[in-house]
Amino acid sequence: MFNLEQLIRNNIKNLKPYSSARDEFSGEAKVFLDANENSLGSPLTKWYNRYPDPHQQAVKQQLSKIKGIGAEHIFLGNGSDECIDILFRCFCEPGKDNVIICPPTYGMYEVSANINDVDIRKAPLLPDFQLDLVHMENLTDDNTKIIWLCSPNNPTGNSLQRADIEMVLNNFKGIVVIDEAYINFAQQKSFVQELTEYPNLVVLQTLSKAWGLAGLRLGMAFASQSVIEVMNKVKPPYNINQSTQELVLKALEEVGQVNDMIKILVDMRIALTEVFESMPTVEKVYPSDANFILVKIAEARKIYEFLLTKGIVLRDRSNVELCENCLRITIGTEKENTDLVDAMQEWYSSPTN
Ligand SMILES: *Cc1c(COP(=O)(O)O)cnc(C)c1O
Repeated sequence: MFNLEQLIRNNIKNLKPYSSARDEFSGEAKVFLDANENSLGSPLTKWYNRYPDPHQQAVKQQLSKIKGIGAEHIFLGNGSDECIDILFRCFCEPGKDNVIICPPTYGMYEVSANINDVDIRKAPLLPDFQLDLVHMENLTDDNTKIIWLCSPNNPTGNSLQRADIEMVLNNFKGIVVIDEAYINFAQQKSFVQELTEYPNLVVLQTLSKAWGLAGLRLGMAFASQSVIEVMNKVKPPYNINQSTQELVLKALEEVGQVNDMIKILVDMRIALTEVFESMPTVEKVYPSDANFILVKIAEARKIYEFLLTKGIVLRDRSNVELCENCLRITIGTEKENTDLVDAMQEWYSSPTN
């Protein structure tokens, strides 16, 4: 039923990918005169005069151990955002194909679709922020190439029901992307271990959230070896720079430290949820499996603007469908969370409110 060859765009199927100097020679050598680098060095002490490994093998080896999945199932992007763009370019014919998204959700799926001139079909989440499977199926046709799922979802914070995701994986014959940017904060199990079960599955993760490395830009796609090979054909040869590869390798040794931070952030999420639930004009704090909470509150926009005057910036989602009057609040440090709560007290005690 799932036929990868049929899904890949013809120009990509026929593409002869760029072959870099480092692709053509990967053995042992002392003298590298093959890539027009500056052989004298660089203004930095490191050997940044050399192009980085186009296949990021050292990083993938480390990730392979941490994730319990073969390196051939891993694609690395300049942030997940690059993975998203590359998936569009592999599978969606501009001006012809379409994809399904389930708003409210992460904004880049739609932006990336628009950049690639790919039609977006929307099956909004139900009021409980779960998938509307019937609507999704009705939107699907022969040109539907990708369904984008985000779990835990941004900006709502909830995980999608596993049975619903499995239903989509079992019944849709295109690519199903599950964006797990926030999976480290969730109770739910990752779908990474299900790759052998579902040839149409692509799981996205990132080092930008739990790993605390948003500045380095490293996103991961996990998929069947054949999907990964298609993505590798399309990516820019040196998409992950040398300093990112080095620093990420170092960071990946610190799983314990990251797990400690995750615990602290989850505890503070629970505490901050209780504080907001006790505020007089808060209608609802949505249950979160992520490192942020979504709060429905009277006069959300005004509060957002008031907090800005205090130097505190939240994400105003009050104009987003199904998120009316909602603010998305990232869990900060203890001090930042306290500052936020203090500013909210000030808002409530101000006579003009
Ligand atoms: C933050 C976020 C990303 C961002 O990924 P990068 O790796 O920083 O590009 C991807 N998906 C979702 C749902 C996010 O919230």
